[in-house]
Amino acid sequence: MAKTTKKRRGPQTTAKVELDLPVRVGQTVEVEITGLNHEGAGVGRVEGYTLFVDGALAGERVRARVDHVKKNFGFAKLSEVVEASEHRFMPPCPLYDRCGGCSLQHLAYEEQLRHKQQIVRDNLRRIGGFSVEGEGAITVHLTLGMSDPWRYRNKAQVPIGEENGALVGGFYAEKSHSIIDMNECLIQHQVNDEAVAVVKKAATKLNIAAYDEVRGTGLLRHVVVKVGVKTGEVMVVLVTTEEPIPQREKLVEAIRSEVTGVSSVVQNINPDKTNVIFGKKTVTLWGSDVIYDYIGPIKFAISARSFYQVNPAQTEVLYNKTLEYAGATGTETVIDAYCGIGTISLFLAQKSKHVYGVEIVPEAIADAKRNAELNGLGNATFEAGPAEVVIPAWKEKGVRADVIVVDPPRKGCDEALLTTILEMQPERVVYVSCNPSTLARDLKVLAERYEVKEVQPVDMFPHTGHVECVVWMSRAKE
Ligand code: SAH
Repeated sequence: MAKTTKKRRGPQTTAKVELDLPVRVGQTVEVEITGLNHEGAGVGRVEGYTLFVDGALAGERVRARVDHVKKNFGFAKLSEVVEASEHRFMPPCPLYDRCGGCSLQHLAYEEQLRHKQQIVRDNLRRIGGFSVEGEGAITVHLTLGMSDPWRYRNKAQVPIGEENGALVGGFYAEKSHSIIDMNECLIQHQVNDEAVAVVKKAATKLNIAAYDEVRGTGLLRHVVVKVGVKTGEVMVVLVTTEEPIPQREKLVEAIRSEVTGVSSVVQNINPDKTNVIFGKKTVTLWGSDVIYDYIGPIKFAISARSFYQVNPAQTEVLYNKTLEYAGATGTETVIDAYCGIGTISLFLAQKSKHVYGVEIVPEAIADAKRNAELNGLGNATFEAGPAEVVIPAWKEKGVRADVIVVDPPRKGCDEALLTTILEMQPERVVYVSCNPSTLARDLKVLAERYEVKEVQPVDMFPHTGHVECVVWMSRAKE
């Protein structure tokens, strides 16, 4: 019998090799790839044993070196594509192999959209028990993609390090603390790349030391850049270990004169030994505390630390679909659970009688209230707290909802919230999800009273494995 050892990714022990498997670590195998998993890795089988191969595509025959095995599946590194898929695309990014941020750049964009549709279908079938093909199947539309799926991100968060006396910034090399320098990222707005380059150059010239994660020494930890794509306003945030910056005025001056559109230079101080980017204290060094942007007609104030969707063009597509599925005509009461800074709520407020938004982070609720004011939308009420506690309390107070929109984090909705929705019986439920597996689990619960009308995946993160979708559910007739 195979010896069961503690399973953990990492160096192989001899005990693990004792597992009676058709492959062993270090071996190069030739394998036929039959599909892509939810992380974008190719899936193949060697004598029935499943191997995941990053960078391989469905329909390909590849050679790959096994680098980790578990009892039921293993991982292998692609060494050669023997027969390439017709959908293989030459990744334009020179750092593609080392960065790991875009796991699908080697797949033609149209196919990425089909792949994301398929991931949603598979989850709805396997986890939700829904029929997705043939008669009575629920409609999962093709993913709505971008006409130009590059340079879409409005926010860069770049760790800073040092190499040969110069500051470098980019991303961490796999399983290490060393930083690989990156001059451009093809999914990042051009001005963000430009701003990071300006800070690296100016801070090097001024002898400002980069933070050393291992020793806990140095000053500059991260450069964060945000751009309001519609307004062109740019905010540069310098995250440092302490407040004094040597020759600070010169650094700020370089940023002001060289970064296109900059209207805010902010410092955030994070003295802690942590992976978390921001510390508690933020000071404005020059210009405004916030930049502004629009999604559709709604204006948002974005501060250094406030959450804002990173792909504003596709956010508008997602929110328009949410509005359409909510079916609001101007007379409805709508609840927006997990509302963040009130983005969906304010979009809905344009077309409803009243919107109630709830969110667990109090600072986000403060932003939501400010944004409502900024847009002159007086028909939105916001409350901080867990949705699963606040919404039942609203129900007790007599709030009745025609529509409930939920947009939970990856772990999905709290069960108590789903129960409350079933009890409140709104006409429609609109579920915005960034994780098809928890979506499928939650829809199965709601299916007790609600019928899934349509599912629309929207590509918020081209070239990455992330899948976002919005679902329209309607109360079933008694
Ligand atoms: N709808 C917003 C944000 C969605 S992200 C937008 O489109 O921008 C999910 C949000 O849920 C986060 O802001 C997170 O802080 C919040 N959240 C997490 N758990 C929660 C809970 N139990 N109750 C309410 N909000 C919660």
